[in-house]
Amino acid sequence: MPEAIYQLENVSFAYNEARLVLDQISYEVPQGSFVCIQGPSGSGKSTLLKLLCRLEEPGQGLIRFGGRPLAEIYPPLLRREAIYIQQTPVVGSGSVRDNLLLPFNFKINADLPRPSDERLRSILDEFHLSDIGLDDPASGTSVGQKQRLCLIRSMLLSPKVMLMDEPYSALDPASANIVWDMSRRLNRENGITILMVTHSQLGARIQDGLLVEVSQGKIRPICL
Ligand code: ADP
Ligand code: MG
Repeated sequence: MPEAIYQLENVSFAYNEARLVLDQISYEVPQGSFVCIQGPSGSGKSTLLKLLCRLEEPGQGLIRFGGRPLAEIYPPLLRREAIYIQQTPVVGSGSVRDNLLLPFNFKINADLPRPSDERLRSILDEFHLSDIGLDDPASGTSVGQKQRLCLIRSMLLSPKVMLMDEPYSALDPASANIVWDMSRRLNRENGITILMVTHSQLGARIQDGLLVEVSQGKIRPICL
């Protein structure tokens, strides 16, 4: 049994007193796993991912990351190790290179090796972005290409976890498939634990991962 990267113990969360979004949930995420999260709209899937990188704080209960209470981990460091990928990719002004290297300008990442142009080029090629130049303006890329750039930018930081919130929802089917394959590879080849909010068809494709449903404040495993 691999050790748990996340342990949630009786975690509850509410945006306002009127309604608990998550109601005393306990759940363990095995290190290196690929977890697909499903559930009705508004059930708390995005909230769950946000709790895992402290974009929200639980009202009650405890979340551990690598055995340590989340609240003890310096948030910028936590968010480098557990990166939240949003539905709609955001790239800044500047070139593709500028965007991929942006996090390396932050003080918190000063200890990380800055990837060479050669490495960036080979990663772009590997993820079907051969027709994009490092000097091209990032703003000129398609939304599918932007999402891949966001995944690559995250991957360069060697995170332990990627929290993907319907990362393909703004994409055309071909780009969505590439993003899906990319996330599978990041899990298998780079050992990154992935929690991904998915719709049911995509979740059903997962053979060697875990499938859970968030609904009515609870989280339940779904057997494939
Ligand atoms: P899901 O991702 O499963 O669609 P969310 O986690 O986004 O659901 O939202 C869970 C519930 O919390 C929904 O009822 C939503 O309307 C509410 N909610 C989400 N974000 C906020 C917020 N910032 N303030 C107040 N309520 C929110
Ligand atoms: Mg959501």
